[in-house]
Amino acid sequence: MIVEEGSPFKDQLIQLLTKEYGKEREGVHVSDLLMCMREQVFRRLQPMPIDEKDLSFYALGEGAHLALERLAGKGGAVSEKVVIVNGITGTIDVFDNIPIEIKTTRSRDPTPKPFHLKQLGYYMAMTNSNVGVLLYIMMNDYERPFRFRTITMSNEELASERREIEARGRVFSEAVHAKDPFRATHVKDDPDLGWKCKRCKYRSVCWSRNN
Ligand code: SF4
Repeated sequence: MIVEEGSPFKDQLIQLLTKEYGKEREGVHVSDLLMCMREQVFRRLQPMPIDEKDLSFYALGEGAHLALERLAGKGGAVSEKVVIVNGITGTIDVFDNIPIEIKTTRSRDPTPKPFHLKQLGYYMAMTNSNVGVLLYIMMNDYERPFRFRTITMSNEELASERREIEARGRVFSEAVHAKDPFRATHVKDDPDLGWKCKRCKYRSVCWSRNN
């Protein structure tokens, strides 16, 4: 038996993921509006090569999602439900009369992150659901590997989220059409999302300007 380092399979997977991400880049998606809109505009206009890290985020995230979505589907829930409202597309992990969003986390802190609440809030607004669920898969907590959080929002809060989605969608589209990522909002000073900059492939060009 000969054991050799590496395999062409890795490059094949990266190519396939590149194709997969390429398909998603039409229109406006909720995922474009949630975190750093500027990064999303950069990705749309100047796509960077997909690397091993991207592949690992995809595999770890999607793997856990798929298993639970398939299981929920056996009970009649709809997995990967696509909703389109005012030209903006959202893909909800599981829809079982209410939206259910699945998150994997390595943290042992089960407090929902503001951007997770925001994403679920957008899906609740888009499906006119006053209730939604965040399901956390706690990858480093073997004693309590799942945490569920039920979120309730009033009709006024849903309406406010819908206005926000539309406004952010407009800013995103305008930045893409103008081919100018600097027209989109950024997260440089955001206490919840500033960490995005450390991993961002567009950091040097973005930080070369003050705005
Ligand atoms: S460096 Fe930060 S602010 Fe700029 S595009 Fe990337 S994530 Fe957004």
